[in-house]
Amino acid sequence: MSAPRRVLLLGATGSIGASTLEVMAQLERERGCRFDVIGLAGGSRAEPLAAAAHATGARAVALADTGSPGLPALRASIARIASAADHPIEVLAGDEGIGVLVSRLRPGDLLVNAVVGAAGLRATLMAVRAGVDVALANKESLVAGGALVLPAAAASGARIIPIDSEHAAVHQCLAGARRSDVRRIILTASGGALRDWDHDRAWHATPAEALRHPTWAMGPKVTIDSATMMNKALEIIEAHWLFSLAPQDISAIMHPQSLVHGIVEFGDGSMIAQLGPADMRIPIRQALVGDAAGPALGRLDLESIGALEFRAIDDRRFPAIRLARRVLALGGTAGAIFNAANEAAVALFLGGGIPLGRIVELVAEAIERIPAGPLTDESDIRAADAAARRFIAAEAAADPPGCAAAATCAVPERRPRP
Ligand code: NDP
Ligand code: MG
Repeated sequence: MSAPRRVLLLGATGSIGASTLEVMAQLERERGCRFDVIGLAGGSRAEPLAAAAHATGARAVALADTGSPGLPALRASIARIASAADHPIEVLAGDEGIGVLVSRLRPGDLLVNAVVGAAGLRATLMAVRAGVDVALANKESLVAGGALVLPAAAASGARIIPIDSEHAAVHQCLAGARRSDVRRIILTASGGALRDWDHDRAWHATPAEALRHPTWAMGPKVTIDSATMMNKALEIIEAHWLFSLAPQDISAIMHPQSLVHGIVEFGDGSMIAQLGPADMRIPIRQALVGDAAGPALGRLDLESIGALEFRAIDDRRFPAIRLARRVLALGGTAGAIFNAANEAAVALFLGGGIPLGRIVELVAEAIERIPAGPLTDESDIRAADAAARRFIAAEAAADPPGCAAAATCAVPERRPRP
């Protein structure tokens, strides 16, 4: 019997993290796979991290937040679990603590990166530099740092296996294909919670409304990104790096049913599309075991689906796609600026500080007004990221009075009209 696969799961307490834990348990139960969870990490929430450590028998946990109540609560819970289980569980803290866990990985191990935001970049880079495969949900790693991550992976031989459903679908469609035959890829977009709302109404949507995604159950940041179409913008940049495709060879299309996840078009006009239930456990499982063998996690009943719906993404209603192309044209640190500006704007929106419609506007202003510089190492990304966050805070603070309450804000003059 082969040795268990050593796995480190970052973002273990989130939506993708929880699905990953479920998939690993299922694979052990149903396919006899064996995983050795060398560590689990989260952001600030102690209880779900301690529970995951208990369920997996993880030997170490790390929490990014070093403050209270998270870390003391984690230490107390882990002490109870470790004494009941009669084996030690190490508790690490901060980005440094997470870095210690990543530094223990070696070629043949797997890092599952399910962190949200640019905070995930450091681990991705460390792993690929060490020749460790990364199952990547954290698309922000590539948006901000693809220019460092992909060359490092090529140099070490590490693979980046996409978990993001569209990219996982394209990855599956490309299996066995000659790269020179590929003309373009098409990423599908559900359109998010507000896809059928008109521009003005969507501009004022509340966090509760924008968080009600019609087809996917995900963490709050990516759900808001779906409502603004920023998610597809981020994914175009992610695809550019993952598949080494020129921006014009990456398209996006609205597909409200979320059944077709990705499409590859070949030079002769033929296409391969990947369909499946809207269930992240499918791409996660493929990333963990590298195959699409059963048992099935769900089946599509094509007879009852009847027809598949596709439509163009309205560029005036969803200007985010245009921004992605602008970012790719700018190059350098533009991706880091774009990503950080979006993270900061989404956080402001979720806190009631700006209306939904301001997110894309502010990000557009950030990429035009903060000069993108060359990207040679991580310090360039850190500086660009910090500049973008400062810019968004200052711009939002300067918004007209009354704009803070998303539901009541008067539409500012500068809002582009459809
Ligand atoms: P969640 O918000 O549900 O989970 C985020 C995870 O990251 C949590 O474990 C959180 O910990 C942790 N975290 C937060 N901040 C930090 C930090 N500074 N350092 C380390 N860990 C941190 O997000 P999702 O699971 O939805 O998304 C994760 C990633 O996967 C995102 O990049 C998203 O775009 C991508 N993705 C998600 C999909 C989905 O279906 N959810 C689909 C495709 C891609 P804590 O719980 O303590 O806050
Ligand atoms: Mg996706």
